[in-house]
Amino acid sequence: MAARDAIADLRQIAFLLERANEASFRVRAFRSAANGLGVLPPAELAARAEAGTLTELAGVGEVTARCVAESLRGEEPVYLRRLAATEGTDLDEAAAALRSALRGDCHTHSNWSDGGSPIEEMALAAVGLGHEYLVLTDHSPRLTVANGLSPDRLRRQLDHVAALNAELPEGFRILTGIEVDILADGSLDQEDELLARLDVVVGSVHSGLKDESAKMTRRMVRAVANPHLDILGHCTGRMVAKRPAGVSGAGDRAHRARSRPESSFDADAVFAACVEHGKAVEINSRPERQDPPKRLIRVALEAGCLFAINTDGHAPGQLDWQRYGCERAALCGVPAERVVNTWSAERLVEWAASRVR
Ligand SMILES: [Zn+2]
Ligand SMILES: [Zn+2]
Repeated sequence: MAARDAIADLRQIAFLLERANEASFRVRAFRSAANGLGVLPPAELAARAEAGTLTELAGVGEVTARCVAESLRGEEPVYLRRLAATEGTDLDEAAAALRSALRGDCHTHSNWSDGGSPIEEMALAAVGLGHEYLVLTDHSPRLTVANGLSPDRLRRQLDHVAALNAELPEGFRILTGIEVDILADGSLDQEDELLARLDVVVGSVHSGLKDESAKMTRRMVRAVANPHLDILGHCTGRMVAKRPAGVSGAGDRAHRARSRPESSFDADAVFAACVEHGKAVEINSRPERQDPPKRLIRVALEAGCLFAINTDGHAPGQLDWQRYGCERAALCGVPAERVVNTWSAERLVEWAASRVR
């Protein structure tokens, strides 16, 4: 294959990162590498790429060096390919189209756990937003700080939801679910019999977030392989202090902006497990979570994962936060057909039940 223009590829990566509103240090890294490498004689650039000595040059890191090597081999750099998915699209339009394709929300909380409102109020807000379904995913027993539901309380909740569904408007229903803790060994924090009864199971890590990568990877891969888990919730556990424009920082007390780094795990292995077992990766819309970061959404997209764009809403007004998740998904080029909550309730429930029966 004929070599590509490696410098032009680096500049294009910087341009697309900027367009996707990525951190400026990341944009600068590519642009300064392009400037530094652009003055080298092409023969020296090729020789250094061949010998693996590009990183000896100032301002050239592992990632940029790999991009240059791929370009010179005549391949479109993987990093560029991931970004180029959104080239030429109107991102506002793409985000709006994705939002209007969503037919429900697969991660919400009521005052049965740590939400602020009764289930019926959450449901009526969802009806108002035009949703066809709302998956109620209150916390599991061991998350005591969030008033997680014991098996008995969850059983009572299921009866309550059945009664509510009988009264709600035609064409809308509350789907049963849980946000089940992924325990330290990767098992799920609820009885199998109950997990099997629920329409949709979101599994999330809420403890040991600083565990070393290999341990966290094993834990997540085991949970993803569990036939009960359908959606992997907020996979990095990060909290970003910054909120997007238009969202005030004065949220509910439990979710006041505070920052926490991403958990470390082998994203390729975890997303490969999601693909293998047909599980969806959540794009969590909460402004203080924005989880996974766009970089990992692109990795999951490339791996072939399904997604769910969820609000993780703890109050009725928060159910409108899906647009933030849609913006981030659109910036990464996630197509609507890969998002499970663009599906009908019937299809969603069928998909979630397909591995358990
Ligand atoms: Zn959670
Ligand atoms: Zn949640």
